[in-house]
Amino acid sequence: MSNEPPKAPPLYPKSHLLAASGIAALLSLALLVFPSSEVEAKKTTLNLELESPVEQLEQQATPPLANEEAAPPPFAQIDTADEKTEQTAKTEPAPAAEAAKAPNHREVTVGRGDTLSTLFGKVGLPANAVHEVLASNKQAKQFSQLKHGQVLEIELDKDGQLASLHSKVSDLETIRLTKSGNGYAFNREISKPTVRSAYVHGVIKSSLSASAQRAGLSHSLTMDMAGIFGYDIDFAQDIRQGDEFDVIYEQKVVNGKVVGTGNILSARFSNRGKSYSAVRYTNKQGNTSYYTADGNSMRKAFIRTPVDFARISSRFSAGRKHPILNKIRAHKGVDYAAPRGTPIKAAGDGKVLLAGRRGGYGNTVIIQHGNRYQTLYGHMQGFAKGVKTGGSVKQGQVIGYIGTTGLSTGPHLHYEFQVNGVHVDPLGQKLPMADPIAKAERQRFMQQSQPLIARMDQEKATMLASSKR
Ligand SMILES: [Zn+2]
Repeated sequence: MSNEPPKAPPLYPKSHLLAASGIAALLSLALLVFPSSEVEAKKTTLNLELESPVEQLEQQATPPLANEEAAPPPFAQIDTADEKTEQTAKTEPAPAAEAAKAPNHREVTVGRGDTLSTLFGKVGLPANAVHEVLASNKQAKQFSQLKHGQVLEIELDKDGQLASLHSKVSDLETIRLTKSGNGYAFNREISKPTVRSAYVHGVIKSSLSASAQRAGLSHSLTMDMAGIFGYDIDFAQDIRQGDEFDVIYEQKVVNGKVVGTGNILSARFSNRGKSYSAVRYTNKQGNTSYYTADGNSMRKAFIRTPVDFARISSRFSAGRKHPILNKIRAHKGVDYAAPRGTPIKAAGDGKVLLAGRRGGYGNTVIIQHGNRYQTLYGHMQGFAKGVKTGGSVKQGQVIGYIGTTGLSTGPHLHYEFQVNGVHVDPLGQKLPMADPIAKAERQRFMQQSQPLIARMDQEKATMLASSKR
């Protein structure tokens, strides 16, 4: 813990603001600023122009489930009693079948107790070949560190001697030794994954993380999705059974095998009957953010919940019995219970007025956001690295960790929200908006976002139709 003694910061400035400066403050809070002077008209294609190459969305006349292997068959048999989850991926044409193996090609799989010697023995190579190989090159030693199940491929020359050997160390990496002159040349081949887009659909039964996992959405993509919708949906208290989500995301593929994921390209979350859509867009300046289908920013001046997946243990109220002081006291904030050490995020960009001890609040961070807003985070276990009085923080930045310092009965965050020096219920606040898509980029945005939204509609319709069949 790196808490400093309180420095009596100007906690609640009472200075009243002119409407004009309030608006200025709001504008300064707008987190995405697009120059409006952009006049350059640029012809765009359907290319998504992401940082990583991504498969172009095909304009398909037929529903995109033609690829049988991508969809878990058969749809009708999927147990939909609890939770419907579906995952499809647009696959590239299958690579041409590998050419028939030449007669001088040998393939051995590493079994228990196998060494390079035993493997060479199996393909009829002399014992001294191992020594030759390992002595040929420093890096060749990697061939003596074989893992159970690894496949070693060997090419023999016309005399039955070793010409080359190679093996996949991982999905992305192959090591190779090729005979050259007296020795062997070592090569490491790193495959660059191709990026394709994949679709996933989930329905919530118990929790978001459980249903996301069942749907095949990784933990990090689930967190990304929660972040994208975190301004509109309170994942601590709004999630209900029956809520649904659709996500199109980047999948990294090597030789038809998924080796990782990239960004969420578009997503939709239906929460208690209300549907929210988000599309990823990188503007001409290279800034990436998520927007609604009609081009409004998903990002607002404030995140609704500063702790992901926490439980609200106490709400804002004018008067309640304080659990320790045992007196009727107003509760001027919201308490979020979560395990000790859970990260706490700054609700918005701002200046840190305090990162230190503050009486009954224990370890506390107070952030000033523009001129009108202030947020307070109490009972922290400790502060995140670099968060200190007088510094500044970005929205979503981890500022500290859930604890139970000060007057507290258990690990939780006490969160306060002030507007013009007055405590308000953070759960009742209408959140100020960030900037929408600039006019000059609107057409380009629509060209990119519409196919994504259309694909989510189409994939879901196809999926639902299939499951009813
Ligand atoms: Zn509290």
